[in-house]
Amino acid sequence: MNHFQRKRGQLYCEDVPLAELAGEVGTPAYVYSQATLLRHARVFRSALRGLDFLACFAVKSAPNLALLRLLAGEGYGFDIVSGGELFRAIEAGGDPRRIVFSGVGKRADEIAAALDARILQFNCESEEELAQLSRVAVGKKAIAPVALRVNPDVDARTHPYIATALASSKFGVPAGRVRKAYRLAASLPGLHVEGVACHIGSQIASIRPFVEAAAKMRELVVRLRADGHDIQRLDMGGGLGVPYGDGPEPASPQQYGEALVRALKGLPVKVLLEPGRLLVANAGVLLTRVLLTKEGHRGRKFVVVDAGMNDLLRPALYDAHHEIEAVARPRRGGAIVDVVGPVCESSDVLAKRRRLPPLSAGDLVVLRTAGAYGMAMASQYNARPRPAEVLVEGRSWRIIRSRETYKDLIRGETT
Ligand SMILES: *Cc1c(COP(=O)(O)O)cnc(C)c1O
Repeated sequence: MNHFQRKRGQLYCEDVPLAELAGEVGTPAYVYSQATLLRHARVFRSALRGLDFLACFAVKSAPNLALLRLLAGEGYGFDIVSGGELFRAIEAGGDPRRIVFSGVGKRADEIAAALDARILQFNCESEEELAQLSRVAVGKKAIAPVALRVNPDVDARTHPYIATALASSKFGVPAGRVRKAYRLAASLPGLHVEGVACHIGSQIASIRPFVEAAAKMRELVVRLRADGHDIQRLDMGGGLGVPYGDGPEPASPQQYGEALVRALKGLPVKVLLEPGRLLVANAGVLLTRVLLTKEGHRGRKFVVVDAGMNDLLRPALYDAHHEIEAVARPRRGGAIVDVVGPVCESSDVLAKRRRLPPLSAGDLVVLRTAGAYGMAMASQYNARPRPAEVLVEGRSWRIIRSRETYKDLIRGETT
């Protein structure tokens, strides 16, 4: 369910025609629907009724301050993976007591800033990291609230680059070493063991790996409590997939919520969740304009648009699929085409072998479901200023990040 729909053939975001937006802010631009984001935020929370839970939005999926502020207003905390994300979360009005700090490596200054902010919990991923955290905490005469991220060794059956819970992954502490790692955590000064965490991957379509992970984590909580650790929180991570228009239809948030409630009910802990993609992916599109069409070898047809892999990396990085469609009423006829960007890389293909209506220079198209890991991964590669971001609310809209300028490209550089 999203608010990008056609009215009289024209594609709108809520009540704003995308063609009008393109005229005002230019292209490429990321356009978000506030109603869609809020709806997802509320559906997710209501799916978890029956659990004592805290949902922490994964900032890395869509770090814009305006989006973070909307989610904070819905009662969301934040899952951060860097000092920069801590800064963003707090600038957006996030409550530090609802911030979880994840990631396999944290610098001492990032740890110090998070201790100063008094965040809810550090999710540590190794024995070495426990020692580092302890050193920084002792140096500041602070106590760091700690959870260990455990690798539950379940196969999430997703793209290898976004599966994180296989035994071969760099993430988490292997299940066989967990009890020993907790003994270490309990023995180190400056640490207070408060929770246990996992995150099994991203764009997961089936409920089964979540249920498997929840069952393993439930057992672990009981075991750790029996070992004398004061486990108050179980962080189940994020990872539920969204429909991109290819592959199997992912489970719904309701199915996910029901399964988690069933698997974790009665366990005397607060359950943390770290949804990212699920909340923002289809609340955003990438709006881009056709520069020209060209024919390659043996009649292969290309549509060259003004957005490239620097603006939307997912197709090049994960071979990801984004639905693409014309903004104006689609013309009759069409052909199989590759939609490509202007970046000087063969991997700069946004959509491969798609049947599209006839398109010509100046036409607008959108790449759907681009709200998560879209702008978040944008770069200036090829000295291309990053796109504007626009938030639509009903009939009104506002720029929530200006298009970068050439001056922005060289900021901080000297000759
Ligand atoms: C990336 C990440 C998430 C969010 O994953 P989604 O698939 O976007 O829900 C949550 N937790 C951690 C630790 C992550 O690294």
